[in-house]
Amino acid sequence: MRVAVIGAGLLGLTTAWFLRKSGAEVIVFDRELHVGLETSYANGGMLHASQASPWNEPGVIFKALKMLGDEDAALLIRPRALLRMLPWACAFFLNSSKKKYRGNLEKNTILADYSLSVLNEHFGFLGDVYDRSDLGTLKIYRTTEELAQAKQVADVCTELNIAHQTLSPDEVGSLEPALQPICSSLSGGIYFPDDVSGNAYLFCKKLAAAADSAGILFELGNNVSEIRASSGQVEAVVGNREIFPVDACVVAAGSYSPFLTKDLGLKLPVEPIKGYSLTIPTSEWETCPKVPVIDEHYHAAVCPLGSFMRVAGTAEFAGFDDQIRDRRIANLFSLARQIYPRYSKYFEEKNVALWSGFRPMSPDGVGIMGKTKVSGLYLNTGHGHLGWTMAPGAGKSVADEITKNIEHFSLSGYRLDRF
Ligand SMILES: Cc1cc2nc3c(=O)[nH]c(=O)nc-3n(C[C@H](O)[C@H](O)[C@H](O)COP(=O)(O)OP(=O)(O)OC[C@H]3O[C@@H](n4cnc5c(N)ncnc54)[C@H](O)[C@@H]3O)c2cc1C
Repeated sequence: MRVAVIGAGLLGLTTAWFLRKSGAEVIVFDRELHVGLETSYANGGMLHASQASPWNEPGVIFKALKMLGDEDAALLIRPRALLRMLPWACAFFLNSSKKKYRGNLEKNTILADYSLSVLNEHFGFLGDVYDRSDLGTLKIYRTTEELAQAKQVADVCTELNIAHQTLSPDEVGSLEPALQPICSSLSGGIYFPDDVSGNAYLFCKKLAAAADSAGILFELGNNVSEIRASSGQVEAVVGNREIFPVDACVVAAGSYSPFLTKDLGLKLPVEPIKGYSLTIPTSEWETCPKVPVIDEHYHAAVCPLGSFMRVAGTAEFAGFDDQIRDRRIANLFSLARQIYPRYSKYFEEKNVALWSGFRPMSPDGVGIMGKTKVSGLYLNTGHGHLGWTMAPGAGKSVADEITKNIEHFSLSGYRLDRF
């Protein structure tokens, strides 16, 4: 069986890996010259089953309206983009009812939990070459209401196997001493000991090297312009140099996936939601925070990754506008200073790598995976803010479906036909 995987980001590479493990002949296409250069390049670094809640929590519409036009808001909606993505935005808000939110939270948590087990079971051979750390994640809260609300979500996650501990402000400071200067302004924290962190780009690079040795073919610098089907069956992938006959094709092209499926009559509800990150070298810091921290009040994540600190956050509905905007970067620096005032002198542009990427987001906040109505065409996209967390499990479950392996994870409820 010959399978094309379009996209050499986290989702494409993990799918390709498991396809090959099951004996398929695999070709991975990417328009970039190297793997992992788009959204999988400099994300927040956290594989956090604890953070599997979709962004459209009940009441999100009021929060979004309040933030309209505020350049420093965690969720920034650019009116021009909103017009284009109106149907998607309506579906996003319709999914924020209590019932839908709870159902989607459960789907994500179950997949994330499975994904972490796949990471541990199948990618142990990579060791810590991707700056993996097993120190969990710590979420901190600034008001008692925020903490109480988060505790409710954490309790749901615990019913689904994700352990947590609620911490007082002092306990937060004991767990991560670098937070002590702000403990008096916190209402508390929630610690998720089983979360993992790691550098997604290094993971892609190292996995691609192993995949190459395992016989996966890479067509890099090759933009796929068409997936060809005849009588409802995929038969070829059209690259910029030649046509590749295939038996099956997996679309894992992140936010660009809809462009590849539309000529086959498949409308993928995936939109790019821009986010930013800062990567700050820490080798000269006298001490360095160790535990990945999410400040829920400011919607910012700070994650130590080897000899760097990654600060990530913000969501911008701006279409495919990839401009790195000074104001959003300044905002991210300011959030980092509020979390770690002791390290303020390092949170300035000198020596810091600035980055933005498009989270491929579905309107219900759940990834879109598995078979479609076109025979031989499979999807692995739409994982939004959770693509790093979901990649091992999503890759394995999609590959298992294609190769008719024993399915350890059921994709029903995650397919495109739910929309
Ligand atoms: C600021 C930020 C922070 C984040 N933090 C986290 C986090 O802490 N934890 C977490 O779990 N997730 C996080 N995410 C989300 C995660 O990074 C993404 O969900 C994930 O990287 C998406 O991977 P992907 O493989 O779907 O897409 P991509 O990495 O974008 O890969 C798709 C690939 O397809 C290729 N491609 C597209 N079209 C074509 C074509 N026509 N022909 C050939 N190639 C094509 C592209 O070149 C690209 O390499 C974050 C995202 C952002 C932006």
